[in-house]
Amino acid sequence: MSTMTAAAGSVEGIRSAIAKGETTAAAVTEIYQARIAGEDPRIHAFLSVDREYALAQAARIDDMAAKGESLPKLAGVPFGIKDVLTLEGFAATAGSKILEGYRPPYTATAVRKLADAGAVFLGKLNCDEFAMGSSNENSAYGPVHNPHDLERVPGGSSGGSAAAVAAGMAVATLGTDTGGSIRQPASFCGVVGVLPTYGRVSRYGLIAFASSLDRIGPFAATIRDAATVLGVIAGHDVMDATSSPLPVPDYTADLDRGVKGMKLGVPAEYFAEGLDQEVRAAIEAGIERLRAAGAEIRPISLPHTRYAIPTYYVIATAEASSNLARFDGVRYGLRAPQSDTLAGMYRRTRDLGFGAEVKRRILLGTYVLSHGYYDAYYRKAQQVRRLLTEDFLGAFREVDAILTPTAPTPAFKIGEKSDDPVAMYLADIYTVTASLAGICGVSVPCGKSRGGLPIGMQILGRHFDEAAIFRVGQAVESL
Ligand code: GLN
Repeated sequence: MSTMTAAAGSVEGIRSAIAKGETTAAAVTEIYQARIAGEDPRIHAFLSVDREYALAQAARIDDMAAKGESLPKLAGVPFGIKDVLTLEGFAATAGSKILEGYRPPYTATAVRKLADAGAVFLGKLNCDEFAMGSSNENSAYGPVHNPHDLERVPGGSSGGSAAAVAAGMAVATLGTDTGGSIRQPASFCGVVGVLPTYGRVSRYGLIAFASSLDRIGPFAATIRDAATVLGVIAGHDVMDATSSPLPVPDYTADLDRGVKGMKLGVPAEYFAEGLDQEVRAAIEAGIERLRAAGAEIRPISLPHTRYAIPTYYVIATAEASSNLARFDGVRYGLRAPQSDTLAGMYRRTRDLGFGAEVKRRILLGTYVLSHGYYDAYYRKAQQVRRLLTEDFLGAFREVDAILTPTAPTPAFKIGEKSDDPVAMYLADIYTVTASLAGICGVSVPCGKSRGGLPIGMQILGRHFDEAAIFRVGQAVESL
């Protein structure tokens, strides 16, 4: 890579260097494979790597380049994929023992679109079991370590996806976000993570956690790279009835327009009790820079925010209890040996295959849906979800985007919250609201703590207005 420029680690830098013959996709792939071999024993972001598969994808790009063909958008760009997304023939564990040995017979639409755009897949990435968690400690295959401090969590559930980019082991990755699982690990690892609007990216081929909340989105080192990747994976898909038919704009077109004249809202509820002082200081400083760059900063209120955590944990667990019913020892992965009856086999498989947090959520979700409790919990949560959404719709009549911290603290220590599920759930306070409302968001690096830990600013936008949050994100990045 000695002949490559400083931009070589970016999506466009790699594509154009290959197109100009300054390097090859094979050489780029080998550099990233060597980094994984060097770094990942300490970080544990990857659950599986396939050297040959990646080199075969790279060879196809090098063939095209040799023939002088124009190269697709992500040509030769090294990617990692969260292990809840399927790639035909590759293990997809979702971080769970219950899927051990499962090889999906199909490929997720978002993953296929990456491949069609010339991406190279280095491997599958570690995550909390079935994407349930905020620290990656719920992976059945061991935790991921934060590249900025190996004793700390990378965030979750897409911890491997964030850590791989932060450690330079992939240029971009895919993760999923149900209640914060892209934005919060992006914040903890100092990278960009995008929550696209619900319906913007097809969920086909995603191992479901909570279907009305699950979204697929990119991680990258810069807003520009993340915007490019979103442009590739977004769009309507006949395989997902909730995917939107709206056309996909060029998300990189307006990036450098700046924030002059934009109205940006700052919700009081996100700067209240429980917010770490260093995080507050970093986000307030970021907001001041946006003001200096010409944005109009307006105080706003999102009054139902305090109900968001209980609402999320009722709806998400209810949907999870239903989605996870399919793991029965018959159709996928693990089957417990030596059961006399079918029901006994189901029970033993689920007992052996699921971890403690997943069991807790199946129990909670089954309870809130059960006769006599449905109205008190599930229906009530749906009503509050509507009120939370109305809060945002009202705010977006006044402002173009909303600025908040992504998480109340920087990355915490491995083990610090792992035996206190409620403390762990509270770490999702600033992210679950956008999940419930279906709006888009991005976490962009915005300073560091005194101890050198990254801090992320969350920028929330109207439904299908990713272009606006990227414009603001680009300004935060460059200021
Ligand atoms: N931390 C949240 C949870 O545990 C969000 C997870 C996610 O977004 N997948 O449910």
